[in-house]
Amino acid sequence: MTVAIVLFTSDLRLHDHPPLHAALASSDEVVPLFVLDPGVEAAGFAAPNRRAFLADCLRDLDSGLRDRGGRLVVREGEVAEEVGRIVSETEAGVVHMAAGISGYAQRREERLREALSSVGCRLSVHDAVVTAVAPGSVVPSGAGRDHFAVFTPYFRRWSGEGLRSPFGAPRKVRVPEGPGSAALPSRAGTRGLSPGLAEGGETEGRRLFTAWRRDGLASYEDRHDDMAGDATSRLSPHLHFGTLSPTELVHRARATGGPGAEAFVRQVCWRDFHHQVLAARPAVSRSDYRPKQDRWRTGRAAEADTAAWKEGRTGYPVVDAAMRQLLHEGWMHNRGRLLTASFLAKTLYVDWRTGARHFLELLVDGDIANNQLNWQWVAGTGTDSRPNRVLNPVTQAKRYDPEGAYVRRWVPELAGIPGSAVHEPWKLPREERRRYDYPEPVVGLSDGLARFKEARGLD
Ligand code: FAD
Repeated sequence: MTVAIVLFTSDLRLHDHPPLHAALASSDEVVPLFVLDPGVEAAGFAAPNRRAFLADCLRDLDSGLRDRGGRLVVREGEVAEEVGRIVSETEAGVVHMAAGISGYAQRREERLREALSSVGCRLSVHDAVVTAVAPGSVVPSGAGRDHFAVFTPYFRRWSGEGLRSPFGAPRKVRVPEGPGSAALPSRAGTRGLSPGLAEGGETEGRRLFTAWRRDGLASYEDRHDDMAGDATSRLSPHLHFGTLSPTELVHRARATGGPGAEAFVRQVCWRDFHHQVLAARPAVSRSDYRPKQDRWRTGRAAEADTAAWKEGRTGYPVVDAAMRQLLHEGWMHNRGRLLTASFLAKTLYVDWRTGARHFLELLVDGDIANNQLNWQWVAGTGTDSRPNRVLNPVTQAKRYDPEGAYVRRWVPELAGIPGSAVHEPWKLPREERRRYDYPEPVVGLSDGLARFKEARGLD
């Protein structure tokens, strides 16, 4: 009897799962394993919303495996030690897993490789599981160049890559008797959740994608920036936890075709783009990709401004609406992410790391590659070719929430102001303004701009 272990990490699904597919093809029995690693918590990557979503994902994975005659084995502890224990309990000859991308995941893989080699067990690492195209497999020409720093040429090369065909879900999974499992975590016990948090799990992810492909994909190109329309896929948490496979999404979107599908595939490519930057430069999770000698504001005034930003009380309705959506749902519309990040890093001139940390504390899709590199992109220390552009929240609001419906949804105290006037409550007559329990702007936009230009030495 040959036994293989499949170590699930950011790939909590049964469809299109190359490590599971390889294990089932070459071994008689398979141990599907997930290790709850306290190191994730210690590194500050865990957060209530993601812990709850993860619990949904693990329960759904277990139930999918049970439908196929198997079960999920959950252990708690340091990954290499826990896998080593299961190897000795089952005499497994091989461990299959997806290639790690972040510095944390790369170190975990390294420790696992060492631990397994000392007990004569093989580690088989599979590419293109977490991303559609493996980091490092598409690189610019020239010696020593290990990643693309500019999106458009990356997208061109990425689009020309022949993606592997997706695998179906297995019909049967035989798990050896023996390896015991810790109790599956449950969302019920998680404190501090956003009240409108989405449901996790592969079943829900596939339902969402099917519905969105039917109803939303065709109009995605025209509507993705419509903040009130909420017309993006909302698949980001499923991509983050790997309950959906990016390879399968790209194949299915391309099979549907049309400008909406093309625009969607381009966004999935942005995800791969940031992952290949992070894989090549893991330190960018904390340090600037392209430092600008910023001397970010600190001290009491900066702290008060940051607190107002976090609470959604900056006095700029569209910024506040987006920050409140984040608090309520653990998710924010991409246009909201862009303009709230620009507001913190450029208008308030507060270190992007402060904002990125807050996002990671709340976002259910909070992801080191996408979050840290998008924050850097907006702050102008990352890969944006126009690092000093500043998004004006009023202009953005009028363009992407022209009727003001998004603001009225999330800032109910302004619900009585009709149309786009809701974006500039400070323009209302004084008596009318008094009727709304809403703060004055924390900073004038021209003052913020002047401070930023001076700090960056711009004209
Ligand atoms: P859709 O518009 O439907 O796009 C489909 C998928 O493409 C998304 O699910 C996502 O996986 C990917 N995608 C879309 N835009 C981007 C992008 N700019 N960069 C990378 N991938 C993208 N995305 C995260 O998944 N996790 C994060 O922690 C995160 N933090 C962000 C922080 C800031 C400051 C900014 C500006 C953006 C951030 N994004 C992050 C990217 C983007 O905002 C979200 O992926 C998107 O809003 C998710 O909604 P959706 O699934 O409906 O996206």
